Amino acid sequence: MDKFKDECGVFGIFGHPEAANMTYLGLYALQHRGQESAGIAASNGERIGISRSMGYVADAFDEKALAEVPGALAIGHVRYSTAGESKLLNAQPILIDCAHGQIALCHNGNIVNARELRDDLVRQGSIFQSNSDTEVVLHLYARSRARSVEDAIVQSVSQVQGAFSLVVLTRDRLVAVRDPHGFRPLALGRLDDAVVVCSETCAMDLIGATYVRDVEPGEVLVVSAEGIRSFKPFPAAPLSHCIFEHVYFARPDSYVFGRSVNEVRTNLGRILAREQPVAADVVVPVPDSGVCAAMGFAEESGVPLGMGLIRNHYVGRTFIQPAQSIRDFGVKVKLNPVRSILDGKRVILVDDSIVRGTTSRKIVGMVRAAGAREVHVRISCPPTISPCFYGVDTPRKAELIAATHTLEEIREFLEADSVAYLSHEGLMSAVQSERKSYCSSCYTGVYPVEFPRDEAGYLQLALKLDKEPVAK
Ligand code: SF4
Repeated sequence: MDKFKDECGVFGIFGHPEAANMTYLGLYALQHRGQESAGIAASNGERIGISRSMGYVADAFDEKALAEVPGALAIGHVRYSTAGESKLLNAQPILIDCAHGQIALCHNGNIVNARELRDDLVRQGSIFQSNSDTEVVLHLYARSRARSVEDAIVQSVSQVQGAFSLVVLTRDRLVAVRDPHGFRPLALGRLDDAVVVCSETCAMDLIGATYVRDVEPGEVLVVSAEGIRSFKPFPAAPLSHCIFEHVYFARPDSYVFGRSVNEVRTNLGRILAREQPVAADVVVPVPDSGVCAAMGFAEESGVPLGMGLIRNHYVGRTFIQPAQSIRDFGVKVKLNPVRSILDGKRVILVDDSIVRGTTSRKIVGMVRAAGAREVHVRISCPPTISPCFYGVDTPRKAELIAATHTLEEIREFLEADSVAYLSHEGLMSAVQSERKSYCSSCYTGVYPVEFPRDEAGYLQLALKLDKEPVAK
């Protein structure tokens, strides 16, 4: 499907006799945040063991693999590659052994000055195993002369810029770190006496843990036998929570940035209905991403909701196309129209975003072929006009249809009767927050963290944007 790609999911637990099993289950709940690789590292108090594999969590581990990572503290990661190719070498956790002892690290986000730091480190003799931006943090850590593990972590993390929610495992402690902007979510919870940190609260629900609070932007949490220690060693920065977590990435049953995703997403639909009403017979969500907004749209507009598109949940990452002659096979294998709901109807088709427009065009065609008399596309976020550099895989600006086409041109391309987006004000009012506390750069093209002007990294960003990046 033509979507921004989820970034990564992280999980950590301290003080549970089945830490690896709990991490496995936590990763299961976070699978939507990354499907390319999965990994778990666990400590038995003396050694850290690790198990990583390509593919889904269910395929990556079996009982034998989990038995090989014993201990009461563990961290885990699901990955979709945002920086670095998709291969096992780039899978996380990354485990190293250095002067400070063993350490394993999981990262959600993207370090914008990774190239600059990496070039410096290579010049000073560092040898990198992977091409992921995360490895830079570990090299900085290994070189730190700080006396304690915590100080070495702080010293290394202080040098990186951008988006990072980190969970770190040492022989006897779990450390959670969130960047001062708070781009990516990171929640703290309890499971009896055990402490849990994870990207989304849905991972806590699965293992029966209770959400306590978010790890705060700029906060470092050290969990050890002595308890939890919290401190904020980084200079404060303007908050930049990723609004796209609420629009699309996070699961609707999660709380992120302290808000229910379902509530925010349903609100987006309600506001969209007020801003962009249209006479119609049925509101149809594009499953699964458009469901909550469509429910809000239907509720607000009074137009009944109909599940006019059914998603096949059993499609794997790859499938073999049996015949080239089946038109739009990729979309058809994932979605099928329900003729009894669509035939002869004026349809409001609700989705969360349009990226390139190619999939949306096929879906509109599918709804028409099932007999819809009119198709009105309603999108529960503003036009996506700029790529993301904070941990989300997005196409180049030139490939984003809203960056290069007028609304009328988009309507023509989709072959819809009308197309309308939620306004930026509408988006912000749905999260009921000051605009300044959220990043919405993919809708504005204005970026909260400045880009380093090092040659390679900067040129790469400029190429992706087709112009000079603009920083606030
Ligand atoms: S640019 Fe968009 S996707 Fe990236 S962090 Fe900002 S809001 Fe999220």
